[in-house]
Amino acid sequence: MSELKGEVAVVTGATRGIGRAIAAELAAGGASVAVVGTGADRAQAAADELPGRGHAGFSCDVSDSASCRGLVAAVSDQLGDATILVNNAGIARDNIVLRLKDEDWQSVLDTNLSGAFYLTRAVARGMMKRRAGNIVNISSVVGLTGNRGQSNYAAAKAALISFTRSIAQELASRGVRANAVAPGFIETDMTAGLPESVREAMSVRIPLGRPGSPSDVASVVRFLVGPGASYVTGQVIVVDGGMVMQT
Ligand code: NDP
Repeated sequence: MSELKGEVAVVTGATRGIGRAIAAELAAGGASVAVVGTGADRAQAAADELPGRGHAGFSCDVSDSASCRGLVAAVSDQLGDATILVNNAGIARDNIVLRLKDEDWQSVLDTNLSGAFYLTRAVARGMMKRRAGNIVNISSVVGLTGNRGQSNYAAAKAALISFTRSIAQELASRGVRANAVAPGFIETDMTAGLPESVREAMSVRIPLGRPGSPSDVASVVRFLVGPGASYVTGQVIVVDGGMVMQT
């Protein structure tokens, strides 16, 4: 299926993990993908491995407003105006609140929340003019539930959900959709360092009985930006094997 032919997708944090799988899914759907990471060489190497043509790697620090503006301009020059934005780049700096350093609070908010704002603002005008566009923000189930040791990360992910709902309301009349995806426990570099005891405890809480893979998340993102989700906006899709079931 090439339902995304003609689309230009910007995927942040696409050098590895969930972002890389999202880039691969959107490329498989026919989109040209701008693979974004903190290093140009790594981003280009990841872009070179995508299926199809018309992809390119870009370096950007999403926590920096000017860097985000530069990214959107560079993508326009090389691939065309962005029609899909996936705000996936994220970091964790975990600690209990009493021990959380100012810089660990701030860097997580800057990367996981402000980055989505800077990039959304930079692409929204073009999308509104074309009366079409899709934004997907990668939140987390801890943005819904909170999590001990992750007050900075959970606060940023919760705020990202409110941000998504707000922009969905602002942009809907211009044909632009915005949704969030909230993954649970997904096997990536971010979770690789967790002690075995924590991994086991989390796996027990997952009704589907296994941790998720990056492609479990990526296929949902592909659906959300595609024609099958044309009447879906302002939603949070939880992809967690049933770990969190909210009423
Ligand atoms: P990884 O740690 O595997 O990858 C993080 C990606 O983000 C890398 O590509 C990295 O780029 C990029 N990145 C980090 N900081 C910046 C920055 N300042 N500017 C640009 N890019 C940056 O993470 P995951 O794949 O596990 O997570 C992806 C997203 O999914 C995150 O938002 C995370 O919070 C969320 N998530 C993950 C879950 C999990 O269980 N793994 C669960 C719920 C949500 P580079 O390689 O260039 O450094």
